[in-house]
Amino acid sequence: SDHNLDYPAHPSDMDWSSHYPEYAHDKTKKIEFADIGCGYGGLMIALAPLFPDTLMMGMEIRVKVQDYVYQRIKALRDTHADTKGYQNVSIMRMNAMKFLPNFFEKAQLSKIFFLFPDPHFKQRKHKARIISPTLLAEYAYALKVGGILYTITDVKDLHLWMVKHLDGHPLFERIPDDECEQDPVVEHVRTATEEGKKVARNQGDKFLACYRRIEDPLA
Ligand code: SAM
Repeated sequence: SDHNLDYPAHPSDMDWSSHYPEYAHDKTKKIEFADIGCGYGGLMIALAPLFPDTLMMGMEIRVKVQDYVYQRIKALRDTHADTKGYQNVSIMRMNAMKFLPNFFEKAQLSKIFFLFPDPHFKQRKHKARIISPTLLAEYAYALKVGGILYTITDVKDLHLWMVKHLDGHPLFERIPDDECEQDPVVEHVRTATEEGKKVARNQGDKFLACYRRIEDPLA
């Protein structure tokens, strides 16, 4: 339940300095990448050195998983203290289905990731899926025009569901598969997370779909 989750009334009320102490002096610096349901944090840890000056945040609802990722990042920061590595990556516990607009301003993000989200197989559980028309409006709000939303899953039915809803949304446009393959982030989307590694061990399929946030046609 969310009763003990802290969240700001407005993104500007949030103090991020404890997450990114090395950047605390720069009030203009904002989180640009969000990994929703980040699990054990493999994606952000792979991306942190590739985008060393980009702030990224993993968002995870499970307390124990958040604690684990927190310790993982802390250890990496200690090991790389001389180069100030991994200062750009952090983790927070939150329910991304409820409070995302409390944390991110309009057009703040350039990338948002949904890697191997919980499938919620049963029809009556579909409303619990992390991609839905209502939630897509929130993701579109947080993403800047030109920003990218990444999805990957080993569950074909969930892939088709996400594609259906994203294709149907006026503010997202699918990026052709060959163009996705040119994106240096995509190999990490496939392989860097713990769930992605598990699927690979079990020789499961991985269905990728990436979307660009486009200009509002009515604006
Ligand atoms: N993305 C990770 C990976 O690829 O290894 C984790 C995948 S795991 C199947 C899905 C994760 O989403 C779980 O860690 C779960 O706790 C988290 N999650 C589910 N609903 C969430 C929500 N509403 N807000 C934040 N995290 C959520």
